[in-house]
Amino acid sequence: MNTREPGYDPIELTYKIEKEVVLGNARRYYRFRPARFYGGIATGDVVGCNLRCVFCWTRIPRDNLRVGSFYTPQEAWNRLRSIAEQHGYRFLRLSGGEPTIGFQHLVELLELVEADGRYTFILETNGILLGAHPEYVRKLAQFTCVHVRVSIKACSEEMFHKVTGAKPSSFQYQLLALKHLADYGVSHHPAIVLGFGDENCYKTLVERIKEVDPDAVEHLEPEVIVLYPHVEKRLKAAGIWPRLAYTPSGKLVKAKEKG
Ligand code: SF4
Repeated sequence: MNTREPGYDPIELTYKIEKEVVLGNARRYYRFRPARFYGGIATGDVVGCNLRCVFCWTRIPRDNLRVGSFYTPQEAWNRLRSIAEQHGYRFLRLSGGEPTIGFQHLVELLELVEADGRYTFILETNGILLGAHPEYVRKLAQFTCVHVRVSIKACSEEMFHKVTGAKPSSFQYQLLALKHLADYGVSHHPAIVLGFGDENCYKTLVERIKEVDPDAVEHLEPEVIVLYPHVEKRLKAAGIWPRLAYTPSGKLVKAKEKG
């Protein structure tokens, strides 16, 4: 990797964050909650992420690595299962931060989900670690309970650097994640964050996805950011504004230019 590139390296950032949020096979969690997505999903919000997206909806668990408590896979499973049983959900997920940080914790949690047999675990990830570590994806291929949703944060290297602050070349890991998932036959689909970049940039991205994961383009999910007050504040501070976004009340707007 070119060391003269601007921005941080998300892989190096992962190692730093892991020291704070991983303890043996335990992962630090901020909270557990029922959520409305996917028709109802039991959600554990993990602490810590290896990206710094300017449009990130999460605040406390991304930026405060000392919040919450450590949970073993068994303890996290107990909390998720209890919420799912209480609400009649069929889906489970980790959110709030990046769930592939502390991969051993995730694997042991998935073993418990798999053994139970009642639930689908939606692995919502930025794909960085799955792209960098094909052996992670090989491990995921052992589970039938998992579906991976890779959220592609930008349409190009340049835009990825702009919206995440990470090195432009680390954008490749997101596409590599799709390639590894396709190669190992893991159920997955890509989501693409819209609104940052022109039409041509997004067309090029779709072509690049086609090259690494031909079937994925049929299952592309558009992801539109939500202009929560703290998100607006971050965007304004960064001098970046999306071409479209949801208001917190759910209205789709073509966002006005900053200022
Ligand atoms: S990858 Fe997700 S959790 Fe991490 S900073 Fe980006 S939007 Fe936030």
